Amino acid sequence: MARRCRTPRSRATNSYWTWKSTGPEEKAMAYAMEEATRAGQAPATSAPGVVLAFGREPKDGKEDRFTQVLREFGMKETHIRAVQQRQALTNESLTDIMCSADYGFLTPEKIAQVNARMDGLAYLPPAAIDEIDPERIPQAAWPTEFRHWVPIDYDAAAQCLTVAISEIEQENIAKTALPDYLVRYRIASHRTIQSIYRQCFARTEAAFDVAYGRMRELMGREDDPDAAAALGELIMTLIRHACYMQASDIGLTPMATSTGAMVRLKVGGVGDFFRFLEWPIWKRIITYLITRSGRQEKLRDEPVDGKIEFTSAQEKKYAEIKHRYAFRVSLTRQVESPENEFTTVVIRILDKDAEAAELDQIGMDPHTLQRLRGYMQADHGIFLTTGPTGSGKTSAIYALLNEVDPIERWVQSSERPIEYRKGSWIQYQVPGHKDEGEAAQLLLKGILRNAPNIILNGETRDAEIAALMLEMANTGHLTLSTQHNNRAETALTRLKNFGVDMTDVAAVLLGILALRLVRKLCTRCSVPDAREATRHLLRHDWLADTPHRPRRAGPGCRHCNHTGYRGRQLVYELLHVDPQVRRLIERQALPSEIAAAGLPPHRRMTASALRLLSAGITSHEAIASILATEVEEAPDDYQPGENAWLQSPYASHADGEAAS
Ligand SMILES: [Zn+2]
Repeated sequence: MARRCRTPRSRATNSYWTWKSTGPEEKAMAYAMEEATRAGQAPATSAPGVVLAFGREPKDGKEDRFTQVLREFGMKETHIRAVQQRQALTNESLTDIMCSADYGFLTPEKIAQVNARMDGLAYLPPAAIDEIDPERIPQAAWPTEFRHWVPIDYDAAAQCLTVAISEIEQENIAKTALPDYLVRYRIASHRTIQSIYRQCFARTEAAFDVAYGRMRELMGREDDPDAAAALGELIMTLIRHACYMQASDIGLTPMATSTGAMVRLKVGGVGDFFRFLEWPIWKRIITYLITRSGRQEKLRDEPVDGKIEFTSAQEKKYAEIKHRYAFRVSLTRQVESPENEFTTVVIRILDKDAEAAELDQIGMDPHTLQRLRGYMQADHGIFLTTGPTGSGKTSAIYALLNEVDPIERWVQSSERPIEYRKGSWIQYQVPGHKDEGEAAQLLLKGILRNAPNIILNGETRDAEIAALMLEMANTGHLTLSTQHNNRAETALTRLKNFGVDMTDVAAVLLGILALRLVRKLCTRCSVPDAREATRHLLRHDWLADTPHRPRRAGPGCRHCNHTGYRGRQLVYELLHVDPQVRRLIERQALPSEIAAAGLPPHRRMTASALRLLSAGITSHEAIASILATEVEEAPDDYQPGENAWLQSPYASHADGEAAS
């Protein structure tokens, strides 16, 4: 691993300067800085020029080259300066600073590309994951736990193993672990390495069973410290398995007959059975979770929030889970009973990486992407995303905001909870101790005084907030927010019901993006779909330029955990507010009229879903709920050529679950 921070970050102290300064020139500067500190001036930040000079210590030239490569990748000078200045103070490696979420100047994939260029190795894009076949790789080379390298291919004739690493420092570690092979390296992002490990090598289900067996052995020995450890391990292996399966929720429900409890997972919006737990083990688990929540008394009256806590040993063992995911635990008493056992537990899993999605990778067509990027250039206005819970609304907004220069434009957000931390944004969490609507309003009013350029308002929940958003947009702020609606045009009805002036809305609204997530077919076991019903669905002229190779779920395989599906893909529609739509909003036209003008059939969400069906990415069954609204015939103004994105490597491989 690269070097870690060794010095206090915040304030300069005498010992800090002594430690840091080396040459006579720097000693003189250090002295000057100490004087300045004594005189009561703020150190460090007030004198960036001086501090930068400390950063120019003679190095091996690698860092100069690194900054050169950063420039080649289009990184701005202001950003490079920000990174260098921190490096001068903290002595972290430039790569470490670049890779941390603190600044977020480069996306994880860009960082991997920079590393690949630096190290003169080939870069492995995330799209390559589906081509990796673990059966080709000798079992002896399979990683037994998650590491920062992963084998991706094997050439038996040459006995040569290809291994993906995230940076060249991992090379030796991989070499030591694989002494029997000739090894060739590729550079991949950290998350690509994680995904490959998960999809190809992880044995998390077996690990859960081992933990369960251990727990059984130790039953009846509650005072034994080993029993407590086994209980913690059982819960952790369950959580890890769910995370690896890309589950959004874990449900633990007791059987009414007191025989035990059922563990279910929800993956891609669809429930699945995982394991049965015997009653004595269930009692231990539920008691543990209730005790941890610290709200046993309150639980008798109302649902309470629980906690997933990592012990220091678990923090180490499950580090990648702890860093990547956040958990929301909800405990609800099923029946009026003093017994803990009749409590259900739902653990919602939030994948913070999904929020780091790159706009180009979430699977939108170039036309829509261009429109969305145009909105982000605006200096004022309102942009809304809308969709049911878990439809990718928040992820889409984060992906848009990831494209904004956070130094030039101050992004400030009001969220509850903050699911994804980005240091260069200014994020605020709506306090939960009082009325949430009122708290959100107060916070937004506060943000307005904090010189924001772009404001992310977690949710437009009531009339007051809608009015505040209009005020923000009218006073020169770009405002982004989410709503819970199924279609783009119904978001307008919602605003109207809030009683805001629709002429004002028409003046500042840029667009409304409605989203859903549909399940993607497993790339390994799906089969062609020749059914007449599917053929009938794909009869539209505007599908002519989409590849026509519909598929349906196959028998299932290890790759898809025998479900036939793996991962999810966005379907969407964007109601762009052009002059015609603007006039209709002003006139308070019917939603159907507005949709007819702004959303021709080939741009509706149904069309977005049918393109995925036609291309064999999703199945007829997976889009059935979206198809419930019939697609009308294509209008005359339809222009072919909008489906070019289906040829992009991201269209069929966009990896990563999105949560809302
Ligand atoms: Zn499969």
